[in-house]
Amino acid sequence: MAADARVVALVPAAGRGVRLGAPIPKALVPVCGAPLLVHAVRGLLAAGCVDQVVVAAPPDMVDVVVDALREFGPTVRVVPGGEERSDSVRLALDEAVSTHPDTRVVLVHDAARCFTPPEVIRAVVEAVRAGAPAVIPVLPVADTVKEVDSAGHVVATPDRSRLRVVQTPQGFDIDLLRRAHDQQDAPVTDDAGLVERLGEPVATVAGHPHALKITTPFDLVIAEALFSGAQL
Ligand code: C5P
Repeated sequence: MAADARVVALVPAAGRGVRLGAPIPKALVPVCGAPLLVHAVRGLLAAGCVDQVVVAAPPDMVDVVVDALREFGPTVRVVPGGEERSDSVRLALDEAVSTHPDTRVVLVHDAARCFTPPEVIRAVVEAVRAGAPAVIPVLPVADTVKEVDSAGHVVATPDRSRLRVVQTPQGFDIDLLRRAHDQQDAPVTDDAGLVERLGEPVATVAGHPHALKITTPFDLVIAEALFSGAQL
């Protein structure tokens, strides 16, 4: 793939974010003076290697999301999201391909990881452009992790040194991501999971603690404490 292959970032933000307990979709919840989604899009563009961003919004709130993202101009497009997260990704991907058929690299980024440092975004893009068809940022696991059964009894203790927590953006060769979505037969929580099902390799790059996923009110407090004084 060319070193300057065109990059689109998809941001599925069509969920309700019930775990945050806010009356509005999570992507629109303010943190450090702006909605999560605005920080996320700003971060993607600040990386300097993303040519276009497509956001999937809750279908009944497309106008609100378009308004929130007006500052970014035509580089950022908004489409109505779908029933499930993977439907939202597919709809955003269709939009990217129809507007720019020459797109070669796709990032799928979670709006909730709105403070992901630009160097993580660049590392993912560089790895895909260098030939890895699927790339995810990861961190080592600090806690011991147990697998439990439905009754809560421990059934296994995986070797912690082999475990990683996964962040976003996840990066893909566009043809592979399309194939992975076309052949999806069961729900998965991330796009790399679909690629794994095809038997294709998924590479890793170093993630960053600042790419934390804002899921609960506790996470919002952490994000405010970490980033409210930062140059965002
Ligand atoms: O609930 P979860 O954290 O797995 O959601 C991941 C992301 O997928 C969220 O940013 C949410 O807005 C998005 N999503 C979507 N379309 C849906 C459901 C979730 O874009 N139908």
